[in-house]
Amino acid sequence: MAGSLPTSVSSWPLITRATPMSGNPSTRILIVEDEEPIAGFIRQGLMEAGFVVDIAGDGLRGFELAKSEPYNILILDIMLPGIDGLELLRRLRSTGMNTHVLILSAKGSVSDRVTGLQLGADDYLTKPFAFAELLARIQSLLRRDRGAQEPLSLVVSDLILDLLNRKAFRGGEEIDLQPQEYSLLKYLMVNRGRVVTRTQILQHVWGYNFHPSTNLVEVHVCRLREKIERSDKPKLLRTIRGAGYMLNDDVQISE
Ligand code: CA
Repeated sequence: MAGSLPTSVSSWPLITRATPMSGNPSTRILIVEDEEPIAGFIRQGLMEAGFVVDIAGDGLRGFELAKSEPYNILILDIMLPGIDGLELLRRLRSTGMNTHVLILSAKGSVSDRVTGLQLGADDYLTKPFAFAELLARIQSLLRRDRGAQEPLSLVVSDLILDLLNRKAFRGGEEIDLQPQEYSLLKYLMVNRGRVVTRTQILQHVWGYNFHPSTNLVEVHVCRLREKIERSDKPKLLRTIRGAGYMLNDDVQISE
């Protein structure tokens, strides 16, 4: 993050757009802020963090952009020309838009914060602010998205793991799994087509950072294999000698 404010924002107060040099260019952020140095400062930092950033210099422009472009996050000032930030937020939510909104305002009283959150803001940060805190809060909001997008089930061939109800099925028949077997199967299915080592399994399924003296992994893999593989079904779980295990529906894999 550069420590200095940008010297100019060429098309102010029109929209300015910039492309990040690295990071996740699919994450788009709209800054609705009428104070040019603040908007430019935030944009610079977010660009360096890898985001695609637009700026709107007044409330109406911000509302139109937020409606028409697929933003992941809005950073919203309250005191704005045109319509203020709270009115923008109210209109946005009344149209059913659930884009994350982080209010960034000099209005920092408890009642200001409560009003913002009641209108549907996801977070509220008071000016003056530290950029590191703004970035941390943005990352926190994005993590919520990732949580919401986690799959409800995993599928390999006719093997299905229902993550919501913690149940497994092969060819439509439920498989009775113990908790550790469920965790082991989930780890193998998440890593389908990749070899996972015994060490990785111990770390992810049991939380061990050491090798126990027992053949814990081998025993559980053996039990799991008996449960998920029937004689009339193609084999899915392979032992890769000297390496570990791989779950896949590709029967051509040699052991
Ligand atoms: Ca303002």
